[in-house]
Amino acid sequence: MSVHTARRLRLIGAGRVVLLMAAVFFAVTTLVGLRDVSSVVNQVDRWLGNSFSVAAGGFCMLRAILVRGERLAWAVLGSGLLSYGAGSIYFTEIMKHVGAPSPADIGWLVFYVATCVSVILLLRGRVIRFHPSVWLDALVGGLGVAALASGLAAAVIGVDNPVGLSVLGLNIAYPLADLMLLVLVASAFGLRGWHPEKAWWLLGVSLAGFAVADTIVTGAMASGTYAPGGPVEALWGLALVLPAYAAWQRTPREMSERVAGWEVLFIPVFFAVSALTLLVLGAFIRLPPLTVVLAAGTVLTAIVRAGITFTEVRQLADSKMQARTDELTGFANRRGFFERLNEEETRGGGAARFTLLVLDLDRFKEINDSLGHQVGDDLLKLVGRRIETALRPTDLLARLGGDEFAVLLQDADATAARTVAERVLAALDGPFDVDGVSFHVDASIGVAVYPDHAVAGNVLLQRADIAMYAAKAARTRIEHYRPGADLHILDRLDVIETLRAGLGQDQLRLHYQMKVDLRTGSCHAVEALVRWEHPTRGLLQPNEFLPMAEHTGLMRTLTLEVLGLALDQCRQWWDAGLQIGVAVNLSAPNLLDKGFPAEVGELLTTKGVPPRALELEITETALMLDRIRTAAVLGSLREMGVRIAVDDYGTGYSSLAYLRELPVDVLKLDKSFVIHLDSDPLSAAIVQSTVGLAHSLALRIVAEGVETETAMGRLADYGCDFAQGFYLGAPQPADKLTPLLWHRNRRAYSSSSGEGGCPPSRLERVTAADLMADRAEPARAGRPWI
Ligand code: C2E
Ligand code: CA
Ligand code: CA
Repeated sequence: MSVHTARRLRLIGAGRVVLLMAAVFFAVTTLVGLRDVSSVVNQVDRWLGNSFSVAAGGFCMLRAILVRGERLAWAVLGSGLLSYGAGSIYFTEIMKHVGAPSPADIGWLVFYVATCVSVILLLRGRVIRFHPSVWLDALVGGLGVAALASGLAAAVIGVDNPVGLSVLGLNIAYPLADLMLLVLVASAFGLRGWHPEKAWWLLGVSLAGFAVADTIVTGAMASGTYAPGGPVEALWGLALVLPAYAAWQRTPREMSERVAGWEVLFIPVFFAVSALTLLVLGAFIRLPPLTVVLAAGTVLTAIVRAGITFTEVRQLADSKMQARTDELTGFANRRGFFERLNEEETRGGGAARFTLLVLDLDRFKEINDSLGHQVGDDLLKLVGRRIETALRPTDLLARLGGDEFAVLLQDADATAARTVAERVLAALDGPFDVDGVSFHVDASIGVAVYPDHAVAGNVLLQRADIAMYAAKAARTRIEHYRPGADLHILDRLDVIETLRAGLGQDQLRLHYQMKVDLRTGSCHAVEALVRWEHPTRGLLQPNEFLPMAEHTGLMRTLTLEVLGLALDQCRQWWDAGLQIGVAVNLSAPNLLDKGFPAEVGELLTTKGVPPRALELEITETALMLDRIRTAAVLGSLREMGVRIAVDDYGTGYSSLAYLRELPVDVLKLDKSFVIHLDSDPLSAAIVQSTVGLAHSLALRIVAEGVETETAMGRLADYGCDFAQGFYLGAPQPADKLTPLLWHRNRRAYSSSSGEGGCPPSRLERVTAADLMADRAEPARAGRPWI
């Protein structure tokens, strides 16, 4: 603010103080009747009375000129006040008596029009959305006041009144106009939730002063007792100076809007009731037709007003509803969920008990990425409906975003929550049919109990989330929040970001584990198992990062990198004369990705590895995701000559049917059966019968998890083809494994190249022609291993 402006503002402040003091002097002298005794005071007061409106008008004008914003409104009010002043001066200096309507009345009436326009301009500026309802409120108020006043006037005037009817009519118009303006200002109060700014108060009080003074004058005129001076003029004086103060109030910077409050309806309701009362009274006493028409008009306008309010409130409710609802599923969204969470917290005065479940679909991102968002969206809708079937009507289901759902279970403890969680998972068990494609969807659920795990809603939700991640990582499907798990989860998030950045940066390492031929004891194939050289934490095992990688859709990139590394190593072995095949583990999205076979083909070509040296391992669960698409992808891979193995056989949806349908070559019996082979007759029976089953389907069978010599012996007895396990060798880096491979295959090589064997360097090398021949030959079950 410049010095110049500051000085001006100080001057204006001082001017307003002078004005107020003058008004007080005027009021006091008028009230105690000093005017009658001292002609000096009388002269001063007469002069003052006329100058108030001029001065107030001047202040309003100054406000309009000096301060930005609302300029027009204050200029209009200023000119109205000046016009009022002109009327007063004409009245006191020229006319000097009460009589017929005169030019003074024009000056005064212009003031009303100007004030009305100014108030409306201020309202429009300060209430962002100027609803039609504000106009209707003013109309209801105006009509109501007119109805009341006309009824009242009829009662007061009676038949014979000493003043001319035109004068009286005009004088009734003044308090009516005052009241109408007051109603308009009051609607600003309503819109502001009855906490209006000072400017509205000052204008309101000013108009109320006018209304009271004008009404008294009208009454006095009707009864012929009007005399100038007295309290009425004191009131007028004060009413006139207040706008000068209103004009110089600070304009609110934040123009908040209040539309919904029922207090807005106070004015229309008040006048509608008054008008109705008049109409009812009309049945008993005679009322002038004008009063009846005005009262009826008031009621009708109030009805229209109520209609508008109703639609506004409904729209408001609708938009509030929309803001709380998830568009896709129609369940609550995050905001709706939080609102209910807060309600639940405060319910029962702190004695509330409830539980949160957070549910996240496993591998949803992959489905979404490979099958498209439409399929993903449809699947989410179906999932939502299934979850709902497992809940009580009082439970709230919400979709928090993506494939994350949350459930608020009212009055449920940890045990009850687990039951519900199990019910929800059971509901998700059956296949989902989307677009003719059938899916199995698995989910993980985290549970957090209020107030045991947290007393703040958002923290509780976070903890349920953490529990959900724990369930996902441990593949336990349901986990309760455990204090201290937070750190663990932050670790996980860090891991995933580091992995995302580390892929393609030579951080993945492969360890290889032998698959030993149970008939010959030789090894012609290894399984490649990924490890990750974390920049700060050292070598991480697959279970430390693969679940997170799966959850965040990194598996496609990861698999391709692993494939590249495995084929590089394979090429090195072949170059060294070791004809070793490698098996690489795939994950579900690879099977849904129609471009995957082409990528594998390209890698085989660039690395120069015969397709028959590559085996791809796929878990049963991944195979079941989308059988049609999976069959197509596996079909093209197999046509290339790549072998397909079913991994972890016996742990998933073991179904004989799919073994016949899907193009697979090998079964890998899960280690859980093999590990207990020695001790558990049931496991032994299962292993034995699975070997028979595989062979009857012309499949080779590999037993995983061979940890003891006895187990190996039994497997050989059962006719199992290959064994893999710690007993035969743990997974290890290629440089450690290579000598072991030479050692194990020593006999095989020596028998094939005559007495004494031959040094590796002289072993037959694979030629380009071999590779081409390999590629042309389609794989079939039962042919030699490599
Ligand atoms: P898997 O495919 O079933 O791999 C065999 C796992 O069993 C390996 O664990 C191996 O170290 C372990 N194992 C081998 N012999 C024995 C034994 O005698 N007894 C017992 N108890 N365990 C044995 P690892 O290397 O920790 O891999 C775990 C899993 O991670 C793998 O299970 C596989 O599902 C996944 N995985 C590893 N590498 C990759 C990869 O490159 N891509 C994909 N998609 N998954 C991978
Ligand atoms: Ca495997
Ligand atoms: Ca396995």
